[in-house]
Amino acid sequence: MNLLRRRGYIPMSSYKTKQDFQGNYICLNCNKLITNKRRKRYCDDKCRDELWTKNNHVWLRSKLLCDCNHTCQKCGKKPRKPFTEPDGAITQYLDDSKLILDHKIPIALGGEEFDEKNLWILCSDCNKIKTAEDAKNIAKHRRREKGRRDKWEHKPEIPPIIFHIQEKMDI
Ligand SMILES: [Zn+2]
Ligand SMILES: [Zn+2]
Repeated sequence: MNLLRRRGYIPMSSYKTKQDFQGNYICLNCNKLITNKRRKRYCDDKCRDELWTKNNHVWLRSKLLCDCNHTCQKCGKKPRKPFTEPDGAITQYLDDSKLILDHKIPIALGGEEFDEKNLWILCSDCNKIKTAEDAKNIAKHRRREKGRRDKWEHKPEIPPIIFHIQEKMDI
């Protein structure tokens, strides 16, 4: 199994275009025919932006941060950072740098890379635990895959007795 890595974003020029039978281009975002002859992947700016958002972790992270109100979706922690004001007073500021965009099902295990349903926001502590769990699951999965491959390669030949039985049953 190939290990897929997080890419962050895919350049739009590498998105595969979609065409109908007549060779007209279809918008990758809304699936409608693109009327502008110079465009191949999206019909208008709105579709371009939506397409970009759907395929970009930076955008997805900022969107999900808003959706979850800058709170870890596992433990509910809202990371804060102390800041000393010019008058010496200490204020607690929201610290988004400790909130990490994480794949619920890792990409290496077939999880969707840019699907919101497979993404959530975790604080750095929860992310550390989750990453360790993921690594364990990926290793387990690889072992299983390898076991399956070995079994296939050393598949025992079917003993001839089975053929005799089948022949008899056919009659
Ligand atoms: Zn469109
Ligand atoms: Zn957390």
